[in-house]
Amino acid sequence: MGDVSLLPDEVVLVDLLVDQVRGGVTVNGKVSVNWNAECSRCLRQVDGCAIAEVEELFEEHPREGESYKLGEEFIDLEPMIRDAVLLELPVGVIRCSATEECLAAAPAYQVLDNNSNEDPDRKESKDPRWAVLDDLTFEDE
Ligand SMILES: [Zn+2]
Repeated sequence: MGDVSLLPDEVVLVDLLVDQVRGGVTVNGKVSVNWNAECSRCLRQVDGCAIAEVEELFEEHPREGESYKLGEEFIDLEPMIRDAVLLELPVGVIRCSATEECLAAAPAYQVLDNNSNEDPDRKESKDPRWAVLDDLTFEDE
């Protein structure tokens, strides 16, 4: 998912308490799995552990987003485990613990020339990728 991956032979640890309640079965506990990714700056391997607390209800007639399907003779935990793990995986920019080597791999910040044709009143330099947004105008309601 994104830059994060789980190795195919990675073991997902599941520590759950299953309890019968009126109209279904509750499943409470912890799901954990190791993930790995590349540091977005130095491309070094980054590892982590996603730990999800689960507190779910399994019903014969599951409600979408509310509960999971309760089988007649068994409970299929996989969809719940998948959902729980996905929510705990890191999103966005992944960085290794910022060692000097990692920082050294970062491209040097570009120093803007103060004598360029930039507006001198403009305090912060703008990201050129958003320049097109300057052309947008909004009418007051
Ligand atoms: Zn790094």
